[in-house]
Amino acid sequence: MVTLLGSTGSIGTNTIDLIAAHPDQYRVRALTAGKNVSLLAAQAKALQPEFVAIADPALWHDLQSALSGTGIACGAGESAILDAAAMTTDICVAAIVGFAGLKPVLTAIRHTKTLAIANKEPLVAAGALVLSMADEFGTKIIPVDSEHSAIFQVFETHHHNRVKKIILTASGGPFRTIPIDQMKSATVEQALAHPNWSMGAKISIDSASMMNKALEMIEAHYLFNMPPDKIDVLIHPQSVIHSMVEYIDGSILAQMGAPDMRTPIAVALAYPDRMKTTGPLLDWGAVPTLTFEKPDLEKFRAIQLAYDCLNEGVGHQIALNAANEVAVEKFLNRRISFGDIMRIVEEGLSLVPQGTPKTLGDILAVDQDIRKKLIQREPLN
Ligand code: NDP
Ligand code: MG
Repeated sequence: MVTLLGSTGSIGTNTIDLIAAHPDQYRVRALTAGKNVSLLAAQAKALQPEFVAIADPALWHDLQSALSGTGIACGAGESAILDAAAMTTDICVAAIVGFAGLKPVLTAIRHTKTLAIANKEPLVAAGALVLSMADEFGTKIIPVDSEHSAIFQVFETHHHNRVKKIILTASGGPFRTIPIDQMKSATVEQALAHPNWSMGAKISIDSASMMNKALEMIEAHYLFNMPPDKIDVLIHPQSVIHSMVEYIDGSILAQMGAPDMRTPIAVALAYPDRMKTTGPLLDWGAVPTLTFEKPDLEKFRAIQLAYDCLNEGVGHQIALNAANEVAVEKFLNRRISFGDIMRIVEEGLSLVPQGTPKTLGDILAVDQDIRKKLIQREPLN
């Protein structure tokens, strides 16, 4: 039994592609979306879950009428998303975008055996809480983010103290080779045009600013219990090596494959077994050379900010994520320039309150506070 939170997104639809190709192995218990009623209803009709939920409460009637006569129960609003997350399952795929996925993730941990987590923002803002709850409820967490899936596959957990460092690879995004001034005035379309991966809008913008890699550094810190000085970032424009683990004996283990999210999703769905992907396999003939570069920390400030936030603590990690979400939304609404994203993120980091947020209430309060202050300074629309 599988529940899919965020079924209408890029990760969600790739997951359904795999599940639909293996109907004997997986049955869907619940599906959720944000606003996309028509796709959600079409998915429900095809997969016959028991329950579907839409986050926008105004869309309840639309969803209900789209599903009339199917016998599939439905609900709307945050509480309905949490109801879906609370259904008992073997695997819950967490594929909502942003901090909005935190409460569903924490709810799912209580009710699923395995949490296949793509939704990185809850790990950035509340990694310690997510892991301690998973520990408490005996829930296995399997990363879906391709870099973390790669590390998960080559990380010898019994040799944790023999790991010299983990090396997160990064494509460098659409602005890797263009001058910083040109990057700062890039359009939404240019920022969305990722050279290797096809993804949702928010993560595509994060990839262009390399905030995606910054979030992934913090995600890796929690998932693999690695201090910041053992986390490296390496630009690898071909996106064939999805990340590596270096051991103290000099061995470096890498995981490779085509840049297609169906591979890491398949790893999480089938673990500890393997399943056949519906995506492309790596064509070695089409890979001319594998190249590597150090990231330009001046151009891509986000990487340095992630190291700073890892050293500063949880409050800064929440603020980094919240400010970035505010900034990316403004950029996608064409209210600010691409260069303004990092300015707003740094402004957010200057607003971190004293103290160490620990509980869900503490974390929600810091997140809300940062967003409110940033939006007061410059309205979203
Ligand atoms: P998308 O924007 O494509 O999809 C997001 C999903 O979340 C959609 O189903 C959307 O519904 C739903 N959603 C949006 N807002 C809310 C909300 N407030 N409450 C409930 N549901 C909501 O994102 P991606 O699939 O690209 O990414 C999902 C997560 O996975 C992100 O955290 C991302 O960082 C991570 N990830 C994605 C990768 C990728 O290749 N796409 C790779 C690695 C990680 P609707 O369609 O109705 O708006
Ligand atoms: Mg990734």
